[in-house]
Amino acid sequence: MKQIDLRSDTVTKPSAEMLEAMVKAPVGDDVYGEDPTINKLETLAAKMLGTQDAIFCTSGTQSNLLALLVHCERGDEYIVGQLAHTYRYEGGGAAVFGSIQPQPLDFEPDGTLSLEKVSQFIKPDDFHFANTSLLCLENTQAGKVLPLEYLKEARKFTIDKGLMLHLDGARIFNAAVKLKVDVKEITKYFDTISCCLSKGLGAPVGSVLCGSRDQIKKARRWRKVLGGGMRQAGILAAAGIFALSNNIQRLKKDHENALALAQGLSEIDGIHIDVEMVQTNILFADITADMGSLCDLLQKKGIIIGKNNHLRIVTHLDISKEDIDHTIKAFKEFFG
Ligand SMILES: *Cc1c(COP(=O)(O)O)cnc(C)c1O
Repeated sequence: MKQIDLRSDTVTKPSAEMLEAMVKAPVGDDVYGEDPTINKLETLAAKMLGTQDAIFCTSGTQSNLLALLVHCERGDEYIVGQLAHTYRYEGGGAAVFGSIQPQPLDFEPDGTLSLEKVSQFIKPDDFHFANTSLLCLENTQAGKVLPLEYLKEARKFTIDKGLMLHLDGARIFNAAVKLKVDVKEITKYFDTISCCLSKGLGAPVGSVLCGSRDQIKKARRWRKVLGGGMRQAGILAAAGIFALSNNIQRLKKDHENALALAQGLSEIDGIHIDVEMVQTNILFADITADMGSLCDLLQKKGIIIGKNNHLRIVTHLDISKEDIDHTIKAFKEFFG
């Protein structure tokens, strides 16, 4: 039976074509800069995102951490969303490895950080305070796409305030596809951008950090320090090249599937979904039911979801429209 795993877009398996590209990839020692496939991926990512350079990373967590270490010195501070992945879900790496202090602020309902609030939390140039040096945004944020107009304001704001601007763009291509713009229309406002290859793009492993030549040079040093010098990892980079070359425009299908699922589930008494909020491949549902019994029934039908009553569902390239229909039917059966 096919497994319909809706917990995350990280669960995708490499396709036969992607595996073939991996098997055929020429490799070398990347710590010597000699892996042609990694070099090709880094050149491609930099070109696509419109930056001078890029570096292949083990994960989005590593890629974001490298950015923080590039922008902040010991005793610096960065301003970030209270629920941002970088702050909340990365083990406090900025503090652990960089002695960097976070200043978390609540996200606005649209996934932005209010620049007026950010402005109030920038510390004065006085030795009582940490030195605020970076603003970190997330796009998509819980599936929401940040408006381009906001990004433009954020760029101007950070220049005025003398801050650097980093984007956790784990799902930046979902944002670009949703807005129907070239991804550079988003990335052009940022100093550095982290982008996951292992989410909706379908690669098994890896992220890229994009930025200026000097920033990426500094990131390369930190990546080695963190144990991220990966030698013949061109096998993995080949999956990333395949993903960037083949799996971007199809993200539209994931968005359509998420919306169809949201619409179907919203008809059920006992499930509350704000369908209007479903912009890309992530939806949230509040479920009044015993999650244990719901998960059991779904599992018998090959459907895997999380066990939280505030449920996050994510669509991805291993989920078809038929899987969505099958899932809506299974939920309807449970709720009667
Ligand atoms: C997944 C994710 C990351 C990086 O996660 P890894 O599992 O370390 O690759 C970063 N930011 C956001 C918003 C994410 O969803």
